[in-house]
Amino acid sequence: MEANLIEIFSSVQGEGRYVGCRQLFVRFEGCNLSCKYCDTEHEAGVHTLCNVETRSGSRLFSEAINPLAVTEVAAYINRFLRELPHQAVSFTGGEPLLHTAFLRELIPMINTKVMLETNGTLPDRLAEIIDLVDIISMDIKLPQMTEANLWAVHRDFLNIAKEKDVYVKLVVTGDIVMEDFQRAIDLVAEINPDILLILQPVTPVNDMIPVEPGTMLELQQIALEKLRDVRVIPQTHRMMDQL
Ligand code: SF4
Repeated sequence: MEANLIEIFSSVQGEGRYVGCRQLFVRFEGCNLSCKYCDTEHEAGVHTLCNVETRSGSRLFSEAINPLAVTEVAAYINRFLRELPHQAVSFTGGEPLLHTAFLRELIPMINTKVMLETNGTLPDRLAEIIDLVDIISMDIKLPQMTEANLWAVHRDFLNIAKEKDVYVKLVVTGDIVMEDFQRAIDLVAEINPDILLILQPVTPVNDMIPVEPGTMLELQQIALEKLRDVRVIPQTHRMMDQL
């Protein structure tokens, strides 16, 4: 079993419920979406090399040739875990659930908490590996960002993910369509109003319109009418100049 990876490195989790935790990041290549605010190269098959940090936190990298065998990736992860105790390994991308067969082989070879950072659109793939996962960071993608209608798959996904430690992340832009925002809140509330919602003001990349601070407060207030835990958290790793 092989997969193309972009990078493996140790850093501080910059987003969501586990912001500030030391995690090991394993970034897969390729995504099934093309979001307007994407800050990752998400095409499949373009990375001939994977950057692997030489030592946890060194910010020095060696290059491994793609595709990487599952045993090779397990060896890298276990090396990082021996160097220092990470609070979880975060499989990210791209979209990690495009690689479920690879993950099914890989995860039993490593001994740490497993987190998925996913766009929340592949419920059948999640079902294939849900038993191996501890934490799920699930995005809800509003139609204006993907030009796709993802409501049904997001609902199916969250219904599977809810049995785990899941939270939902919603990236907010200055031109957010309020009807869609409300629909996202309703979707989460109908499944379980105790599910944590992270409102993440967009990092202004790709000409995205930043959101006003006052608007974030208004959106949080609207969400709190239906959900019990709504937090506003930006991409903090960028403020700290972390990866
Ligand atoms: S789901 Fe994530 S990786 Fe995929 S295009 Fe959107 S932002 Fe980029």
